[in-house]
Amino acid sequence: MCRLIACCLLLAGAALATEPRDLVLVRSATRADARAVEAAGALVDFVSAEGIVAEATEQVQASLRAAGFAVEPLVPGISDRYEANFNSGLEFGQYLTYDGFVDSMRAIAANNPGICRLETLGTSFGGRLVLALKFSDNPSVHENEPAVHFEGAIHGDEKIAWAVAFEMVKYLLNNYGTDTLVTRLVNTREIWLLPMYNPDGYVAARRYNGNNVDLNRNWGWMWGGESAQGASAFSEAENRAVLAHIWRNPMVMFISFHAGIEYISFPWSYSPDSIPEKRLINFLSQRYSVPTGYPYGQGYQGMYPINGSTKDFDYGYGMMGWSIEVHAQKTPPASEIDPTFNRNRSAMLEFFHRAGQGIHGTVTDAATGLPVHCQVWVGPANWPSYNHRELGDFHRFYLPGTYSVTFRAPGYLDTTVAGVVVPGSGDSSVTLDVRMTPNESAPLFACRLVWCSYVNETANRTYPVRALGPSDGVPFQLDNTKTICLDMNRPVRNGPGTDLVVYRSSGTGTASVQGANSWQGPWTNIGTANSAQTGFDLGSVGLDSTRFVRLTASGTFYFDAVEGVNFTGIEEGSTNRASRSVPGPSVARGAPRARGRPLSLLDATGRRVLSLPPGQTAPPRLAPGVYFVYGETATPVRRLVIVR
Ligand SMILES: [Zn+2]
Repeated sequence: MCRLIACCLLLAGAALATEPRDLVLVRSATRADARAVEAAGALVDFVSAEGIVAEATEQVQASLRAAGFAVEPLVPGISDRYEANFNSGLEFGQYLTYDGFVDSMRAIAANNPGICRLETLGTSFGGRLVLALKFSDNPSVHENEPAVHFEGAIHGDEKIAWAVAFEMVKYLLNNYGTDTLVTRLVNTREIWLLPMYNPDGYVAARRYNGNNVDLNRNWGWMWGGESAQGASAFSEAENRAVLAHIWRNPMVMFISFHAGIEYISFPWSYSPDSIPEKRLINFLSQRYSVPTGYPYGQGYQGMYPINGSTKDFDYGYGMMGWSIEVHAQKTPPASEIDPTFNRNRSAMLEFFHRAGQGIHGTVTDAATGLPVHCQVWVGPANWPSYNHRELGDFHRFYLPGTYSVTFRAPGYLDTTVAGVVVPGSGDSSVTLDVRMTPNESAPLFACRLVWCSYVNETANRTYPVRALGPSDGVPFQLDNTKTICLDMNRPVRNGPGTDLVVYRSSGTGTASVQGANSWQGPWTNIGTANSAQTGFDLGSVGLDSTRFVRLTASGTFYFDAVEGVNFTGIEEGSTNRASRSVPGPSVARGAPRARGRPLSLLDATGRRVLSLPPGQTAPPRLAPGVYFVYGETATPVRRLVIVR
């Protein structure tokens, strides 16, 4: 039945934009029916004991009835009622139009440069601005401070979600310098507020963006299997903008406000399994629940199963993530804005505060003192998170206890600090400043997940993060036809012989392997991984380098790891480079170049500067610096220093 509805009701969904919607009860429908009801064009609010509560046009209701569902009216004309509520301006809390919101954000930033900075994260499908305000002292620079992100209206019709996030903007402005708590939090945190995630939907009073995509089904953790999911993971401009934002600014906590019910929903939403650090998310959810009175639980059971949500990706990226449903109505009368904000205010402030609890520090290169962008794995749960690329600082919420923390970066030796104690007193935080040692025998490897296709959540209990890091025999089960896209954190260079190795831990499945230097492509086919260790030569397929690697499975592919040969360890006269059964470059001074072959010149970061055609012995004029010269095959590598 589900499949039938999905096919024949697409047309009905397209008419949603203008037709009024009623609030209805789809009686006796269960969580398992939620996707089918959504596919029919209805907007699912929540699942109750009686059935699914959803918004639907008359046409969609007729289609649901035709498909065998019993549909009962709850609130006729709910969308008209929300529209009237939107226009019900009051002296205090007030809904703003998109233009009014943009003007307000600009004016706020211009008038308060000491504590906030306006960032245009990107533009929507319809060309509108996706605006975030960062609150902090010294807001124009990143400081070693824990970051928190609250956003609203990823579903454009849930306007009370916009209002709660925007009211916090006003609250911080009005209380900084007079309220000691607000002042302390702004001074010691980086607080990101993104009230209008989906401006197209907000303007049209629609759930979807201007491209008819549900932005909360389009994120890259287990993407797919949903209606309105988009052409591919992160296909939507709004989501790419926010992804880039969290890559620049890893958050301790990432909260997405919604409305249509009252509920604190934590990951996973795609799977009935608990997250590895359930104790942490349970604790924080309970803290948010106390002052607000909202119930809390896991999204999969507490709401209904969905793929491609923000909260699942957030946690997959090492951030505590939630969808928090703040009001039973998506757009209640404006008189509800102040009470709803007041209900959430102290819980939001507590989250700002709690972001400073746990394990914090910086990670730098032992040789250069420069920041090292790395994974931070906290044991015993062993779940990865990331530090800030600019300063190398990391911040992880943790409860009092004793932990081990492993820092892992491509081209460095793992650094593990055991016996890390988060104290139960004071500010309940501990600081680790770690220096990592670069090592020429340490391979490059996948550092973070960009996106992966959904898997059968009950048959496949493996996580894509298992494909990160060097080969360890622990695989992510990449199901037949499914894709995973990984970021190696820095480009794997073409060198002599094998540059890239894909490890399969067991089974006979194969995977096509592609490479690109942007995760959005264009992709180049590198070959097929079909054995326990399949090596690839990037040069043989015309690639100079690849930072991103994409695998698509034929049969079940037990994907252990992808490693790149580390060419950054090149040293003059060194021939003892260890390798993980992968041939690396041999190095010698003054070795003759192979006759008739072009030589490549790379700068110190590994970027190819030029190719020297056969016969040319001296490079043209180059800026002062260190360069590496090597041939496309087995030519010895030489280091070239140009000084002027
Ligand atoms: Zn929502």
